[in-house]
Amino acid sequence: MEQRPGHACGVFGVYAPGQPVAHLAYLGLFALQHRGQESAGIAVSDGETITVVKDMGLVTQVFDERRLAPLVGHLAIGHNRYSTTGSSSWRNAQPVYRSVGDAGFALGHNGNLTNTVHLAERVGMLPGMTAPEIELDSTTDSALVAELVAQEYPPSPRSDGRDLEMALERVLPRLEGGFSFVLMDDARLIGVRDPHGFWPLTLGRIAGGWILASESAALDIVGAHYVRDVEPGEMVVIDASGIRSHHFAEATPKLCLFEFVYFSRPDTTLYGQSVHAARQRMGEVKNRYIGRTFIAPTPETRAAGVRLKLNPIRENIAGKRIVVVDDSIVRGTTQLTLTRMLREAGATEVHLRVTSPPYRWPCFYGMDTGRRPELVAADLEVGEIRSYLGVDSLAYLELDRLIAATGSRRQSFCTACLSGEYPVPVPDADTKLALEEPAPTPEPTPEPATRTESRRSVSIVWRCRSMMSPPTAPSRCSSSITSPSASSFPRRSMRSSPGWPTGAGRPGARCSGARCRSTAA
Ligand code: SF4
Repeated sequence: MEQRPGHACGVFGVYAPGQPVAHLAYLGLFALQHRGQESAGIAVSDGETITVVKDMGLVTQVFDERRLAPLVGHLAIGHNRYSTTGSSSWRNAQPVYRSVGDAGFALGHNGNLTNTVHLAERVGMLPGMTAPEIELDSTTDSALVAELVAQEYPPSPRSDGRDLEMALERVLPRLEGGFSFVLMDDARLIGVRDPHGFWPLTLGRIAGGWILASESAALDIVGAHYVRDVEPGEMVVIDASGIRSHHFAEATPKLCLFEFVYFSRPDTTLYGQSVHAARQRMGEVKNRYIGRTFIAPTPETRAAGVRLKLNPIRENIAGKRIVVVDDSIVRGTTQLTLTRMLREAGATEVHLRVTSPPYRWPCFYGMDTGRRPELVAADLEVGEIRSYLGVDSLAYLELDRLIAATGSRRQSFCTACLSGEYPVPVPDADTKLALEEPAPTPEPTPEPATRTESRRSVSIVWRCRSMMSPPTAPSRCSSSITSPSASSFPRRSMRSSPGWPTGAGRPGARCSGARCRSTAA
């Protein structure tokens, strides 16, 4: 319901000798549409030729029978994109295709590298320094990986055809951050997961073939059965000789906790647990698939999107005390709109319960949260957020209880955006456009902020023990409903960096001077 942080993309792969697989790839992408809605693409090989079709839009907008028809072959990868590195544009749609001599390969990427600038500098891919021999038709970290892989191809093809596999073995240890890849050349399908396994990647079996997919639900939808997850730090290669596994790094699992909270479909299984059941334990009651408000570019269109999806029925609301349960609050834009709608519909009280802790830190591993000043909880305590949103009471689920709901151990999750504990060192600044604009330079420390409006200080006067308990002693808010823009959050203090945790007073966060480099768990 919140104006969401961007998803991290969905990837799909299929290898089924003797079978046409383009429609399976289409169905797989359709099943993963929730992970990225900016563009979609499929690459197919018939054993000799790789054909790629990609475009901006949803899977159903990009593909129809006419556009699927030329995708002939038994091997395919597909990709749904939400941009986390590089702008949202046609040239950045995936799969990325690279030719290398007479050969070629295609790549789909879910996640975000954290050493993009460093790697791009080394291979001459930063803006203004692109070497003439580099094929730069995209400005994503995925294109950077493709370039790195292409540079590791041998001068003449190997007799066993394993050029892509061998090149990857040399490149993967140099990558940092979040990455689940599907790749293909003309004869083999490859799946890769970063050593922390930030983003899921599952392996499934269909009659006579294999499937790779971001989520197990996509396996169900194409009629495959779940075999296992690709392990963190593992590369699986599928070809005519079967399936083989390489471990290129030691596994230190840190699955994104938000896969349980929001990203994954409820019919997906993570760490052997049903996402739907976990969300019920967290307290979720809404039907998230009643409709999806695709991320809109302005506060006004976001608000319109909220109204489109959630138009209150006045007779059911007038004179009532309303409890709203949401999975997260990122910028707070949606909650402001929703609260106003409920008040206008006659609600006497509006209470907000959130099935995750305050979202205080930006994600660098593959979710596009924007910069830290855009996060409503970055500098505000719960009472101040309550006041800002204009709700009568607000309570968040504590991190320990959220993790308990997943049925897995805390050590197996990344919780950085909630705790400030980044498992992998992150860049000094937002690098989303690092490959298409001058390399980011640190912004100067802003002057101390003055509050944009006067608000009474509100402390937490009620905290529910159970997220599903009705509020029994709600605080009364005397402030009228307000809808300031996201850029006018009341700030206690401005941070020293646009994208970095200040660390001061934050449990689990460490600060080394003016700018934190890493807050390793
Ligand atoms: S920072 Fe948050 S959104 Fe990003 S991987 Fe970690 S838990 Fe997921």
